[in-house]
Amino acid sequence: MTGLLTRCSHQLCRYVPRRFYPGGPGRVKRLVLSRLFQPQNLRVDQVLSLEGTSGDLTCKSQRLMLQVGLIHPASPGCYHLLPYTVRAMEKLVRVIDQEMQAIGGQKVNMPSLSSAELWQATSRWDLMGKELLRLRDRHGKEYCLGPTHEEAVTALVASQKTLSYKQLPFLLYQVTRKFRDEPRPRFGLLRGREFYMKDMYTFDSSAEAARHTYSLVCDAYCSLFSRLGLRFVKVQADVGSIGGTLSHEFQLPVDVGEDRLAVCANCHFSANMETLASSQQSCPACQGPLTETRGIEVGHTFYLGTKYSSIFNAQFANVHGKPSLAEMGCYGLGVTRILAAAIEVLSPEDCIRWPSLLAPYQVCLIPPKKGSKEEAAAALMGSLYDDIAEAVPQLRGELLLDDRTHLTIGNRLKDANKLGYPFVIIAGRRALEDPSHFEVWCQNTGEVVFLTREGVVGFLNTVQVV
Ligand code: ATP
Ligand code: MG
Repeated sequence: MTGLLTRCSHQLCRYVPRRFYPGGPGRVKRLVLSRLFQPQNLRVDQVLSLEGTSGDLTCKSQRLMLQVGLIHPASPGCYHLLPYTVRAMEKLVRVIDQEMQAIGGQKVNMPSLSSAELWQATSRWDLMGKELLRLRDRHGKEYCLGPTHEEAVTALVASQKTLSYKQLPFLLYQVTRKFRDEPRPRFGLLRGREFYMKDMYTFDSSAEAARHTYSLVCDAYCSLFSRLGLRFVKVQADVGSIGGTLSHEFQLPVDVGEDRLAVCANCHFSANMETLASSQQSCPACQGPLTETRGIEVGHTFYLGTKYSSIFNAQFANVHGKPSLAEMGCYGLGVTRILAAAIEVLSPEDCIRWPSLLAPYQVCLIPPKKGSKEEAAAALMGSLYDDIAEAVPQLRGELLLDDRTHLTIGNRLKDANKLGYPFVIIAGRRALEDPSHFEVWCQNTGEVVFLTREGVVGFLNTVQVV
């Protein structure tokens, strides 16, 4: 253990001079919990007044996320995303990037300000009604804040006048804020007026190719939710104002969900009740009984055909050199909604559980209380932190030291349990044994094991991060 800690100019870390790591910087950044910005413990009435809602019951994910300082209400349907949430969201975006790029997705970033002319071209300027947040610039020109980007992306691709069928398909996606003046924003990040969406738009040279792309994206969504450990159902869905001919929703089954789903007990059929005739009692595929569950829509896929490409003239030269309209699809994932929905389905009433890959920090280290019999183990905990950072490179930046040593280990363990770190390491009485043993709590298995320093390092080497 190096002697004195030198405070660096970063708020969250203390730099400890240390020997050089192969290929890494010569310092360990110790992230300490006492310096995290984490406004918390708002009373429910304060929340409701900040949100401008009139007493809508909050749901579990909203309550927990407010309690532990993951989000903070700004105005109705708008939240500040606080440091833990931003870390989890960045991880989610990395998983999404991996899945989208594995099928050929190319990331773009389109403006949120979207000119009225684009929307007038598809008549959605009127069709979208009050949901569209509209504004004017200083010249009186009208815009909306993009709720989705079919118009923008189709105009973008249409501007390329020399596309050949050989260049297709294009799978263009982005992760950006979307704006919708929802009539009833509620349940925190589950239904906001400003939220993050991953939206992908695909351009193919034939209907057959577009259907193939459609199934590739659906498979990528299945892979994403499986990697997050979230049980989902893929249901037939209504095409709504987006249009097109084929559509599926990815739903997380849970009671607080706003969608009603019909699931067949005998075969794979499932559909959003919106798409079924009200008289439909039995499965249209096998006549088996349909059961109803509720779900949170976390993703939506549409096969659009040429609905948008024909309006904006998004064309390419086909195999005969003749101009031909692109066959399109569009594919949404509710990024902020997935975070809240995952917490909703994975957490018990009083503490947060994350998909392991998304936990904001993988490991929380709890040194002994100041003035306690175990105090001498504090330095051991500091050097364990540095050893893990050195020997387990994928966990650098994933280690949080709970330096609030005026609190007992028990109290800090309670907080750690509430935040849902996958691993909590405690330097208690057995840290003073020779060799030292650290207590390791594993969130997923509920196991508690005592390990030596080498044991801890070996154990953490198996942790998967994204
Ligand atoms: P909903 O039926 O829940 O209003 P939608 O069908 O209007 O959603 P889409 O246009 O399909 O939503 O948007 C793609 C994805 O964006 C949705 O599957 C959902 O996960 C997410 N999303 C939509 N609206 C919101 C919102 N208000 N807040 C958070 N996420 C949202
Ligand atoms: Mg939808």
